[in-house]
Amino acid sequence: MKSVKITKIIKVGQDSFLLSFKRDFEFVAGQVIGINIGEAQPARLYSIASGSSEEEIKILFNLKDDGYLTPRLAVGKPGDTIQISPPFGRFVCNEKEAYWIASGTGIAPFASMIFSGIAERKILIHGSRFLSNFYFQNEIAPIMEARYIRCCSAESGEGIYSGRLTQYLREQENLAIDNKYYLCGSAEMVVDTRDILISKGIPYENIIAEIYF
Ligand SMILES: Cc1cc2nc3c(=O)[nH]c(=O)nc-3n(C[C@H](O)[C@H](O)[C@H](O)COP(=O)(O)OP(=O)(O)OC[C@H]3O[C@@H](n4cnc5c(N)ncnc54)[C@H](O)[C@@H]3O)c2cc1C
Repeated sequence: MKSVKITKIIKVGQDSFLLSFKRDFEFVAGQVIGINIGEAQPARLYSIASGSSEEEIKILFNLKDDGYLTPRLAVGKPGDTIQISPPFGRFVCNEKEAYWIASGTGIAPFASMIFSGIAERKILIHGSRFLSNFYFQNEIAPIMEARYIRCCSAESGEGIYSGRLTQYLREQENLAIDNKYYLCGSAEMVVDTRDILISKGIPYENIIAEIYF
C-alpha cells in the first residue's frame, strides 16, 4: 500500500461520492484498487471509474452508514491521506461487441472503459432506484447515444425505462447469443441477471461478473 492525497471529494447522488487523487500508475480499465485509512481494518476494494489516461484516478463509492471505511471517506477533505494498493483484477474488456450491465455504483468499471475509448460496439444497461444515481450520465449519454439504456425502478423520467434492469432484460427478444455479457454491481443483480441471460440461451461462459460485496 502507498499513501496518496485526496484532491477532491464530491457528493454525486443519494449516499454516493466521487473521490479523486493524482494518478501516478498505469492501469487497465475495469481494474480495482484497495483503499484504506490506517491499518485497523483490511482495505476495501473499489473499481477505478476514470479513463486510463486521465490525470486523476476517480473512485465512485456508496456510503454504508454502518460500515467502517465509507463513513470515514465520505467526510474526507482535499489534502487528507489515504492508502491505496496497486491496481489489479481481470474484469477487463476488449474491442469486440458486448453488453455491459451495471447496477448502482457498478457503473464504475464501464465508465472507465468508456472514458478509455472502448465504448464502440457496446450496449450499456444501467439500473438504479433513483434518477439522481445515473452517475456520469452527462458524459456517457453523448458517447453511447442509443446504446445507453437507463432503467429506474422508483422514479420515472424522459428517455428512462421504468422498472428494474432485470425486467428490461426479460422483455428483450433478440439478445445476441455470441456476445460477452459483463455484469457489475450487487450480488442480487448479478445472480438474477445471470439466470435471465441463461434462460435466454446465453452460454454461461459468455457471462463475466464482478460482484460488489
Ligand atoms: C471487486 C470489488 C469492487 C468493488 N468496487 C466498488 C466500487 O467501485 N464502489 C463501491 O461503492 N463499492 C465497491 N465495492 C464494495 C466495497 O469494497 C465495500 O464493500 C464497501 O464500500 C463497504 O465498505 P465499508 O468499509 O464502508 O463497509 P463495511 O465495514 O465493509 O461493511 C459493509 C456492510 O456489511 C456490514 N457488516 C460489516 N461487518 C459485518 C459482519 N461481521 N457481519 C454482518 N454484517 C457486517 C456492515 O454493517 C455494512 O452494511 C467493491 C467490492 C468488490 C469485491
